[in-house]
Amino acid sequence: MSLTNAFAGSLFMVVAPSGAGKSTLVNALLAQEPSIKLSISTTTRPPRPGETHGKEYYFTTAEDFEQRADAGEFLEWAEVHGNYYGTSRIMIEEQMKTGTDILLEIDWQGARQVKKQFPQAAGIFILPPSIDALEERLKKRATDAPHVITRRLLAAGGEIAHAPEFEYAIINEEFAVALSELTAIVRAARCRFAQQAARNASLFAQLGIHAE
Ligand code: GDP
Ligand code: ADP
Ligand code: 5GP
Repeated sequence: MSLTNAFAGSLFMVVAPSGAGKSTLVNALLAQEPSIKLSISTTTRPPRPGETHGKEYYFTTAEDFEQRADAGEFLEWAEVHGNYYGTSRIMIEEQMKTGTDILLEIDWQGARQVKKQFPQAAGIFILPPSIDALEERLKKRATDAPHVITRRLLAAGGEIAHAPEFEYAIINEEFAVALSELTAIVRAARCRFAQQAARNASLFAQLGIHAE
């Protein structure tokens, strides 16, 4: 790998069945590691109470989404729980050029598409401690209608079946433990040789370290 062409930042994909605690964990990680940039997805799902356009998601119509998907605007997109979700290609490419660490909160179908394009992307699967806990968390979160919760619970098994495709697995039982594990993964990825070399090109040159 060329030291100068290497992407200095790391790309993380956090995937979980709905209610496993993905967004809560990611938000806590970002509060602690403000240099990581969270990709804001575009979705056709209606906003939940308290969600704002441009913060949690860019909310749009199915017609607009389909047009943009056809135009190749998404790095990846998928239909999840009856709605479309996609990651903007331009936003990710711009961030990558600046060497920023980027985190994608996407589903397993999207993670597969990203991995094909960026094999170095780190895939992290968040598991609930049990299906009962998942149900309890979705109900307690109280952001979705009962039929939406049922649909998401029914989908959980199918999503968990894809966990073996990921490099990392975190069991979100004790929140603080899960957060420290997520932080450890992020910090280890930053110490990968290629990332260090790309971020510290002049030091590596001074030390006489050259690409293989
Ligand atoms: P959550 O399950 O409570 O996080 O509910 P959301 O409605 O926010 O997300 C629903 C599903 O869509 C989850 O599996 C997300 O990971 C996934 N998702 C969100 N944004 C994207 C995206 O840009 N691309 C893809 N492929 N999936 C996404
Ligand atoms: P996701 O983004 O995976 O759908 P959320 O982050 O919205 O899940 O979490 C679902 C609910 O579970 C939230 O109400 C959150 O506060 C709660 N939660 C997250 N992690 C834990 C945990 N370790 N123990 C108990 N509740 C949790
Ligand atoms: P929610 O509707 O609860 O916000 O999200 C439901 C699911 O959609 C989550 O599992 C979330 O990770 C996934 N999701 C959110 N954004 C994207 C995206 O941009 N691409 C893909 N593939 N999935 C996404």
